[in-house]
Amino acid sequence: MLFHCMLLMVSLMTIPASDVGHDGKADDFSSDALSRGPHSFDALHYDVSLEIFEGIEEIAGTSGLLLQSEESNLTGIVLDFKGMTIDSVWDAQGTLSFLQEDETVSVDLNSPLNSGDTVTVWFSYGGSPIIQGGSGFHWNMELGNHLSHYSVGMTPHSGRYMLPCWDDIYDKASMDTHLTVTDTLYAVSCGELVDVETGSGTTTYHWHHPQEISLYIWAIAVSDFIVVEDSTYSWIKYYTYPDVEIEPIFGKVDRMIDCFEATYCAYPWNQNLGFPFVGTSGCYEHNTIPFTVAGESIVAHEISHHWWGNYVTEEDWPEIWLAEGFATYSEALWEEWEYGFEAYTNYMFEIMQGYVASGKVLPIVPATNYWGITVYDKGASVLHMLRYVIGEDAFFDGLQLYLADNAYSSTTTADLIDAFETTSSTQLDWFFDTWVYDYAYPNYQLSWESVQSGSNWEVSISVEQIQTLGPVFEMPVEFLIEGTEKDTLVVMWNNIQSQEETYTVSFLPQEVTLDPCHNILRSGLVSGIEEQEGSSYSKPPPVIFPNPAHSSVVILWQHHRQFTARVFDLSGRCVLKGRISSASTTMDVSSLPSGCYQVSVESSISRDSAPLTVIRQGDR
Ligand SMILES: [Zn+2]
Repeated sequence: MLFHCMLLMVSLMTIPASDVGHDGKADDFSSDALSRGPHSFDALHYDVSLEIFEGIEEIAGTSGLLLQSEESNLTGIVLDFKGMTIDSVWDAQGTLSFLQEDETVSVDLNSPLNSGDTVTVWFSYGGSPIIQGGSGFHWNMELGNHLSHYSVGMTPHSGRYMLPCWDDIYDKASMDTHLTVTDTLYAVSCGELVDVETGSGTTTYHWHHPQEISLYIWAIAVSDFIVVEDSTYSWIKYYTYPDVEIEPIFGKVDRMIDCFEATYCAYPWNQNLGFPFVGTSGCYEHNTIPFTVAGESIVAHEISHHWWGNYVTEEDWPEIWLAEGFATYSEALWEEWEYGFEAYTNYMFEIMQGYVASGKVLPIVPATNYWGITVYDKGASVLHMLRYVIGEDAFFDGLQLYLADNAYSSTTTADLIDAFETTSSTQLDWFFDTWVYDYAYPNYQLSWESVQSGSNWEVSISVEQIQTLGPVFEMPVEFLIEGTEKDTLVVMWNNIQSQEETYTVSFLPQEVTLDPCHNILRSGLVSGIEEQEGSSYSKPPPVIFPNPAHSSVVILWQHHRQFTARVFDLSGRCVLKGRISSASTTMDVSSLPSGCYQVSVESSISRDSAPLTVIRQGDR
């Protein structure tokens, strides 16, 4: 309900989709780095000034780090820095000697610091910042007729590409970012815009971020943006272009904020939130300025990171499910908020099916692929199951308690367990030990028989966990016992590999179904696809735009985050095929002659189609 201007849609970049994390970060980012342990100082505040020379693709920077010593007699510091060249270093007392090597800069302090002492060390540097595995600074990225220049955080260690820093996720700092750009451009960074100064042919934008954040969620974005305010919450901004249509999906950002504020807590970032439209294919939860592309679930995902990952942050990367698993689960909670509980259960059913179909069986913690399906989809599945196990009140109270207890700080899964044990008044090691720290998921084999006993029937239900990998999973398992006119739901607390329980029902049992509501991540979910048939919940057909198309189309299929799209011509010949995901919603149709086509979409559990018209430039 926000945008009144309907303008031309500009095609987004087409990047091959990966089959892993929802953010589209997966393949580009290394997942072999760990943070280092405690160090000799605490980074408190970065004051970064960057002048952007887009013509020559260089940056001139000045950066100050306010640090506090955590040991006595601290005589020097070593910071992370890679790419650009440092020409001088100083503090309030004068010039400091330094040595820049491959990925570090070592600085001798003017006088030794005792524990608790603070100093601000300044660096002057410049050059062409590097891009490493998708992170770093991107020049002249095309979005329609516009060029954008931006930094992307997110690799385990990407702050070092932009400023001298202590580049570990747990050492959070507040930020001031001053960006000087050509006066036809607009520059955005994290936090609140507190000052704009014009120079001769340049403009400097000062962004202030008072709360401490990890450097992997700091970013800048520069382009010939115009600023559009959200019509519901004017503090939400869209940094866009006069000739670019904002995806209709951003019209739901107001309700997404409502959803997450009601479910989690008040938005934690002083009503600062803006969406820079840059030519990125992946999506990134940069704090207060998420980079995101089309797709309702991905927009919800990135917004939810402002609670999960940004506000309360995993202490180290192997626990990244505390960010990504929760953001993925937030997609499902958004479905529930907007479309109802059945939409939620369908969404989670699809996530769990996709995970089982992936064949992955790794523990969630420690994560081995930080942006992989185990972190995202098994992580979300664990939250879905925990809600089922401890109930609505304990689950949502636990989420809120965890956020409140750990606001603006860093955590491990142990902190999460503490919160849920408090709100559920029960010990939960048995749940987390198997689902988070151990391998695989159960494969239940069900058998049953019934005998009449007077006017009732005794139903003996046997369950055996036959998975060959992983532990015996302790779970409450529901069974739907159905007769011709009646049915009843019973629960077995299954905590041994082979277990049998007998239940009394007042009707002749005809069928027994295990886990009919899809509460458990289990092997049988994939062969249980037919259970969805007959559901009153109908999925909307795919949306294709622009249509007619010239060079590329965005394909959105609600409730499907990954699917295959095939384009058929009128003779029924498949002329194009592509994988569509949250990370890449665009298909290049520039190779097709003008004409009418049918786009068929297919996921692991359903298929649908929609017409497409292609008009070549010369045919218009
Ligand atoms: Zn994410």
